Amino acid sequence: LEYSSQLEAQSRELEQTARKLREANTKLTALSVQKDAFLSQVSHELRTPMTSIRSFSEFLMEGGMDEKAQARSAGIIHEESIRLTRLLDDLLDLSVLENGQVVLNVQTARLSDLLDRAVSSAGVGSPKPDGLEVIRSAEDEGVLLKTDTDRLTQVFINLISNAQKYCVTDTPRLRIVVTRSQDSVDIDFIDNGLGISPKDATVVFEKFVRLTDQASAGSAGLGLAISREIMLRLGGSLDYVPGQGGAAFRVQLPLVWVERLG
Ligand code: ADP
Repeated sequence: LEYSSQLEAQSRELEQTARKLREANTKLTALSVQKDAFLSQVSHELRTPMTSIRSFSEFLMEGGMDEKAQARSAGIIHEESIRLTRLLDDLLDLSVLENGQVVLNVQTARLSDLLDRAVSSAGVGSPKPDGLEVIRSAEDEGVLLKTDTDRLTQVFINLISNAQKYCVTDTPRLRIVVTRSQDSVDIDFIDNGLGISPKDATVVFEKFVRLTDQASAGSAGLGLAISREIMLRLGGSLDYVPGQGGAAFRVQLPLVWVERLG
């Protein structure tokens, strides 16, 4: 009797192991499908600039073009190679972030200085005719952050540049609103464009997702994916906030890394 109950226990254990193996196998298959999809997206993204570099260099080699056409072809080759480099840099950055290999360089800085830096790096700020006007709340004064300030600024620059690219209206405006709560600081980037529908808002953070046809402008749909990954590494988050009129993105950092000045 003892022998048979031992056998029963062993067979239950075996069944459990088999179930775990099946589950692991399903997960591995899903991962491999994801990896294949990613590789095919990457090669698609690389092929577009490569194709134009190849055709325009062939035109140049064939000769017989006038000087203006030659300069135009060389210009396209130049632009496309810059785009290719940017794409490869972004892919590398994303892979380092996703694999958790990123080394954080933690420094202390004023939030308002980081926002200043981001606004000027993105090349916006003062209200220009048809340029993006940036409006800042006074709340960011006095917020000191202890974090990887370069990485956080990279996220800010991306959100500001996105407003610049995608906020289509006659008077594009971006409000940057800082709110301190008990355990976190929120930095909202709210523009007055068309915004993003709830359905699209769930996918914009995925790799290679472009809602507007920005392929020609050299956007690969990686900016938000990289930014979200950075925020996770910094112990915070990046989300879309619906119902704000235009597009609204919220950067959140835990308060443990925020101190009051003075
Ligand atoms: P990219 O790096 O190519 O600019 P992102 O990942 O930053 O791509 O953005 C993905 C998509 O999200 C964009 O193609 C755009 O359609 C949409 N998007 C991002 N920011 C905004 C915004 N402020 N307003 C409207 N659409 C936006």
